[in-house]
Amino acid sequence: MKWIYSLLFISLTFLGCQSSDKKHQHQQEEAEATVSDNCAHCGMPTSSYKQWSSSLVDENSKEHKFCSNKCLMMTIHQMEELSNPTEVSVTDYYTLEKIDGKKAFFVWGSDKVGPMGKGFVAFKTKEDAESFAKDYNGQLPVLSYKDIDTEVVKKAIQ
Ligand SMILES: [Zn+2]
Repeated sequence: MKWIYSLLFISLTFLGCQSSDKKHQHQQEEAEATVSDNCAHCGMPTSSYKQWSSSLVDENSKEHKFCSNKCLMMTIHQMEELSNPTEVSVTDYYTLEKIDGKKAFFVWGSDKVGPMGKGFVAFKTKEDAESFAKDYNGQLPVLSYKDIDTEVVKKAIQ
């Protein structure tokens, strides 16, 4: 088992280096101490990528965590039993604040690569999402939760 963790650590370090966030070192230290919850979609640790992490609460009040908004959206649009979450929580990419996913704005196609490659980068405000999209070559217009339908998800995972 040990080598898996070493491998994970190396890839995390590598991904961490790719990210130009000033806070990433701090986040990484925190992540190492708390790696425990795995993504309900792909199995990767969710606490390692704070700026991408998300979760949903299903109709039976059960929480499911995800490594990224991409895994979250794939789950909502591909798994019928989780297609109608009562609550969706995503992380604001800039502030790392947990925000209501159903009210968030998302940027697809930017240069910022998450744990699952290109992803839906989440923001609390439309203004932040738009300025991020302009700075990092994301698609405009930015997307609301409702804009991300099955078609959008299908294109995203191609
Ligand atoms: Zn995942």
